[in-house]
Amino acid sequence: MARRRRRWRVFESLIVLTANDGCCVYCQRKSQVMDHVIPWARGGADDMSNLVPACHNCNNMKNDKTPAEWWTARWLEGSWHGNGTPNKGGWSLGLQDVGLRELYLQGVEQTLAIIGAVEEVLTEIEDQQRAAWFLWNMPFDYPNGFFGVETYRGWCAPRIEQGKADGWPDSRPSHLRKK
Ligand SMILES: [Zn+2]
Repeated sequence: MARRRRRWRVFESLIVLTANDGCCVYCQRKSQVMDHVIPWARGGADDMSNLVPACHNCNNMKNDKTPAEWWTARWLEGSWHGNGTPNKGGWSLGLQDVGLRELYLQGVEQTLAIIGAVEEVLTEIEDQQRAAWFLWNMPFDYPNGFFGVETYRGWCAPRIEQGKADGWPDSRPSHLRKK
């Protein structure tokens, strides 16, 4: 049976896109898209537990790779040309006479750091109190939204900032709150 992608509602997209202070988890530039940590094409769930904020550029580069595959390959390809010398113009700029094994170990360290960052942002996204705040404070619960998520994000930025500063207060209507 064919798997179907979800149509995310605007407030759900905002839960993901405004995590990590609205920045791409991979490069810290402004986030633009929701990235499947384990790619959709590889069986990754279309679920908040598998989505992080990313920029177009990182999302395109990562494509159908896992964070571990992408980041390790990126480090090695940027650092090594296979002719016996590190690529001094690559990410390991400044490294001299480093063997492939050492370079690989460094890549693993870099990759673990990225996976740690991904995990931290996923924890933020899955925070139920934060998610509930978006549900009750972002009045755009229809898919996509007429103006597109980016417009709503701009409009709601001050409100979201305040919500965060206030610790995502319980915003449910009083009849839904526990006595
Ligand atoms: Zn990025």
